[in-house]
Amino acid sequence: MIEQGQSQEAGTPGRLVVISGPSGVGKSTMAATLREYEENVWVSVSATTRAPRAGETDGESYFFLSRDQFAVQAQAGEFLEYAEFAGNMYGTPRAAVAERLAQGVNVVLEIDLAGARQVRAAMPEAVLVFIAPPSWDELQARLIGRGTESEEVIERRLAVARTELAAEAEFDATIVNDEVGAAVKRLLSLVESP
Ligand code: ADP
Ligand code: 5GP
Repeated sequence: MIEQGQSQEAGTPGRLVVISGPSGVGKSTMAATLREYEENVWVSVSATTRAPRAGETDGESYFFLSRDQFAVQAQAGEFLEYAEFAGNMYGTPRAAVAERLAQGVNVVLEIDLAGARQVRAAMPEAVLVFIAPPSWDELQARLIGRGTESEEVIERRLAVARTELAAEAEFDATIVNDEVGAAVKRLLSLVESP
């Protein structure tokens, strides 16, 4: 049986797939669902300086770092890409991704628009997938309904969301996250044959 994140075809490098989209659209929910699938796919764990939310575990949801720790790692070139989002730093640990790809495992990065653009520039073969909400009202409702941010932070994230929605055309494909299971299945089919 193929375990999650295990190589199916040794010798063939894995495919790098980036998912991006506005805050609250459901990217983390999709990533968590994808992690439960026993497929030849591994979802990268990012580093961040933001505080953990209730239920988030260090090393699983994110690697939670101080600003200083993040800066040291960024300076040492340990991130494949990194960006500031709504006042916090986020970055993709380079070594873990390179290792999986070399083993033939497909890798999914869940990152913001600035990060997606950096990946596009550094690795043009990566497949960029835009995760879109069914509507603006639904996006707002999800962000508010998550109940993890203050009103001020929600406003900030919604302002950034307008810019992100305008960048959809830069992506290779769009998936509307109407129902999580269906959206993840569409993502998996892109991971396997873009
Ligand atoms: P993101 O990672 O894009 O910021 P989250 O995954 O945290 O978004 O999702 C934001 C909120 O929307 C969460 O409360 C989550 O449970 C909910 N959610 C995610 N996907 C769906 C969906 N397809 N339908 C309804 N609610 C969803
Ligand atoms: P959140 O704080 O809601 O978990 O994430 C905020 C934003 O940061 C989301 O758009 C998410 O995709 C993005 N993000 C998460 N990890 C990374 C990363 O490693 N790099 C970049 N550039 N963005 C990330």
